[in-house]
Amino acid sequence: MIRDFEYRQEDERIFAEEFRDRIPEKIYDSHVHLWAKDNLNISKAEYGIYKVYKPWTDFDYMEEFLYEDYMACAKQAFPGKRLMPMGFGSPFPQIDRDRTNAYILDTAQKKNMPFYYIPGQFEDMFETEQKLHLLKRKGFLGLKPYPDIPVVEGREAGIYDMLNRSALEYANKYGLYVVLHIPRKERLRSPDNRRELIECITEYPDIGFIMAHVGRAFTYYDVNGSIDFLLPHENVLFDTALINSETVLTYLLQNTDASRVLFGSDAPLAFARGKDITVNNRHYYVSENMVPWGMGPGEAVSPHFTFYIYEEIRAMLYASKQVYGKAETDPLEKIFYKNAADILNKRGIPDILL
Ligand SMILES: [Zn+2]
Repeated sequence: MIRDFEYRQEDERIFAEEFRDRIPEKIYDSHVHLWAKDNLNISKAEYGIYKVYKPWTDFDYMEEFLYEDYMACAKQAFPGKRLMPMGFGSPFPQIDRDRTNAYILDTAQKKNMPFYYIPGQFEDMFETEQKLHLLKRKGFLGLKPYPDIPVVEGREAGIYDMLNRSALEYANKYGLYVVLHIPRKERLRSPDNRRELIECITEYPDIGFIMAHVGRAFTYYDVNGSIDFLLPHENVLFDTALINSETVLTYLLQNTDASRVLFGSDAPLAFARGKDITVNNRHYYVSENMVPWGMGPGEAVSPHFTFYIYEEIRAMLYASKQVYGKAETDPLEKIFYKNAADILNKRGIPDILL
């Protein structure tokens, strides 16, 4: 569980006043990281080394986040709604990839949870299939590669380092989905990323490519004009994980059909109290409690923050109002529920929330 999770009266009020009547009863959360403590391959004494880089490797803040933790947070923060995560492990070098995948496989089996498998840099996915029989497992959606996993010398990891040919061929052959965290500092402005993406999308047309975090667009500068080249390709979808910028989501909904947008929270971070702010076209984490990877209040300030996931939904509902006006029920139903249910359907998996 994350260290400082608590549900406050103020959260209850926000939920009732702003969200309850506008978001659907059933919600698939398409982007959730789950892992157990024993998936870590560093000792407690080393936690301090890694927590300065990013929230995801602050294991003092979140040592583990189990399926049960997610459900406990969701139940409190979304009273009366039914949420189901589409889960994957935590893709960082401080976590053992085999163990975090094994935890997900086991949880998926026990809880009927849809899931993605994190592939390795040189892993032959056809051999893995022989060993793990992923295709026969309940809830298997596809792959969740990540740029922090491949080890490359003297350059940034690219898409083929995260997704080797066997992974692409395997996913294409079986019509799987790939949740893609765009690599490289320049993200969708990187010519290498754009070239590799177009190659993958056209050479492997039976893969559903889900661009995580709207292609890692956390600010208007990141999204403006940069996702457009993907839009003619119907096998490209977008998840909104951790995006809490109204301008990014408005741009997305204005330019993309709602049938291609999936709500994702990026839990567990989604249940921290904070929000991204944009300053000079960059985004920064601001959190209620001071953390080494973000900005926080000075001692004289006592802020009243709510969860990232509430800020995400707030921004989504703002964008929805701008783009759909009063006709928002249908598109929001798609974004929070139906598009994910369609993915399950395409994979031959029963809709767990039905
Ligand atoms: Zn994520």
